[in-house]
Amino acid sequence: MTITRRTIIAGTALAAAPLGGPVLAQTAPSSPAPAQGSASRQAPGFYRYKVGDIEVTAVNDGFAQRPLEGFVRNAELSQVQQAMQEAFLPANALPITFNTLVLNQGGRLTLIDTGNGDMGAPTTGRWMANFRAAGFDPAQVSTVVISHFHGDHINGLRLKDGTAVFPNAEVMVPAAEWAFWMDDARMNQAPEGMKGAFQGVRRVFGPIAGAVKRYDADKEIVPGLTSIAAPGHTPGHTAYMLSSGSGKLMIMSDTTNHPALFVRNPDWAAVFDMDADQARATRRRLLDMAASERAQVAFYHAPFPATGHIAKDGNGFRFVPMQWSPAV
Ligand SMILES: [Zn+2]
Repeated sequence: MTITRRTIIAGTALAAAPLGGPVLAQTAPSSPAPAQGSASRQAPGFYRYKVGDIEVTAVNDGFAQRPLEGFVRNAELSQVQQAMQEAFLPANALPITFNTLVLNQGGRLTLIDTGNGDMGAPTTGRWMANFRAAGFDPAQVSTVVISHFHGDHINGLRLKDGTAVFPNAEVMVPAAEWAFWMDDARMNQAPEGMKGAFQGVRRVFGPIAGAVKRYDADKEIVPGLTSIAAPGHTPGHTAYMLSSGSGKLMIMSDTTNHPALFVRNPDWAAVFDMDADQARATRRRLLDMAASERAQVAFYHAPFPATGHIAKDGNGFRFVPMQWSPAV
């Protein structure tokens, strides 16, 4: 049968006929349902899944809008807009989300990266509410593992007023990252636009400089969590392999920014990549590994809950989100 507007209407009438009575309720509902407010007011932004015996909780810290102009250093704006259009994303600004991971191993909590704290855009700063809604308390965190020293990953460690957010946590950072950002000579030589980043690192880590543990690449830094050198985005930028039993999760950190741009086009360089060529080589190596091993991946800046798989696609790759599951 050819479906036309007429047959749809006829079908609807037929389906409704056996009810015998009025098809639509004639009375108004007892109370109106007002719109609930801005798009940032969703159910709490946490999502749990298992990696072997480890319970992983992705905790979202909101999002920030990034203008597209100048965001990809080695592509024309029109090419970037085309990639946005293919992913059904807005034409002029990229919504970048922030997603930390909490690992629960027999009641011992490890947090990987911390979000923007109270230093980010007004659409960020949701982390603590989401973390608490997930059933956690910051005093329960035993270890905070940092992937690299950009503000959206470290500022959640310390409030603007100086308060340490995780009073009982050991803080672990990449040794190469520490060596770069804590070097005063390098800070003094840095271009004016980059000095703030060095100062931000000192704001967060200065008061605990003696206690911060520095880890190397290819080390098991907490049980089941092994560091992978992923330089380029920053000098000491680190990814991880989380393993438990047969479960594996590749934690990609900022190996890519938004997957719709940089998983699709792994040779594109985001403006945040400090060494674009090194970042590109790292990105190809890790995406290739994830695709060939069919490994589950987590990205800090993928759409929440920021976990899925990587498929090869032409000269690039495709991010395939995990299906949301009501069961952990
Ligand atoms: Zn980042």
